[in-house]
Amino acid sequence: MGKVVRLYWGYIVVAALVVGWSQRWALPVIAVLSIGVSIYAAFQVPVWCGAVNRDGHTYCRNNAYGVLMGCSKRQHRWQKIKMIVMRSKAGDFSRAVFPTAKEKFNAFLAVGGLLSAIAAVIVPVITG
Ligand SMILES: [Zn+2]
Repeated sequence: MGKVVRLYWGYIVVAALVVGWSQRWALPVIAVLSIGVSIYAAFQVPVWCGAVNRDGHTYCRNNAYGVLMGCSKRQHRWQKIKMIVMRSKAGDFSRAVFPTAKEKFNAFLAVGGLLSAIAAVIVPVITG
């Protein structure tokens, strides 16, 4: 149980966030939950590394934590960050970083958490 919670706490926060928006919790609470979701998906969720191997057309399947992170090979970490920043080969990029529905979902959480945090900050400004 402890290990499962440590690996997947972000999904609990996601559930809390959904409840938070639908039950209209205090916006600062929602903002904190949103940021938690983004940080979890970007830096902690268990994923495949996804960097391109030395042969140039297979992808690294080592464990990594977070959609922005690579495995323990330092070169892979840089490669992934470079892919995300440069976006030079868009097709390869999405195949490498989001090979499965699970990875796409995690990327969606990273972006969704960020948008949710922004919304929690902007909504009170708009509604006064
Ligand atoms: Zn790797």
